[in-house]
Parts: sequence; structure tokens; C-alpha cells
Amino acid sequence: MVSRKPDITSRQRRLLEELEKCDDEMSGQELHRQLHQGTSSMGLTTVYRNLQVLIKKGLIRSRHLPTGEVLYTPVARDIHHLTCVDCGETRALDECPVETTKLPKKTSQNFELLFHTLEYFGICQKCLENKTS
Ligand SMILES: [Zn+2]
Ligand SMILES: [Zn+2]
Repeated sequence: MVSRKPDITSRQRRLLEELEKCDDEMSGQELHRQLHQGTSSMGLTTVYRNLQVLIKKGLIRSRHLPTGEVLYTPVARDIHHLTCVDCGETRALDECPVETTKLPKKTSQNFELLFHTLEYFGICQKCLENKTS
């Protein structure tokens, strides 16, 4: 297996490093704020544009919350979430339910798989209790 070394700009590298440093996912706003405190500040539009490039290169992935907010994580971190559609609360799963699933050979032929996403949506315990009481 050939190791991929996608060529990225110094700005994209900065964004990727910020995401790798953080234990949690980050929104574009948070990344923008974070970089603003350092020496490599960039405009919010630039942040979002470069995040899109990183997604296309298969280095990070994004997750859309019911609130419309988008969160970013490095693809190396394989986390999935349960998200409540009522209050927007999200909870990370302990392990990846996808890992053991093999793609059918026919489907994965001539396709270099970079990452996967999987999200669960539902109603959290708190919201369920509010509904029944
Ligand atoms: Zn809820
Ligand atoms: Zn996974």
C-alpha cells in the first residue's frame, strides 16, 4: 500500500494541526478564533475554503448538526455520534460500528477509500422524559 502524501498549503497544514491538537471536533468559527490568537490568522471565508480542500483531499471530515453548525475532525479519528434532533445534544459512540463491515468487493473496485461517515439521529433520554411528563 502506497502511503498518500497529499500536497497541502501551509494554511491547510495549520488547520489540520489545530484539529489534530484538539481532542474534540471543532467548528469553522472555533478554528478561526483559535488561529486568530496565534500568528497565522486567516479570514473566516479562507478558513472554510481551506477546510473544504482538506475534505476533498480526504484528510478531515465534517458533520452537520441539526442546528446547522458544521463540525470538523481529522479522518484518522474514527468517531460516530448519536444526535438528538430535539435539543441537538450529541454523544460519541465508544467504538466504530463500521470497522468490521466489509464493502462488497465489486463496489470497492477501482475506488480508493479514504474515510467513511455514519451518524445516528434520534431523541435523547432527557427529551423523551419531557415528552411523556
Ligand atoms: Zn434531546
Ligand atoms: Zn467509523
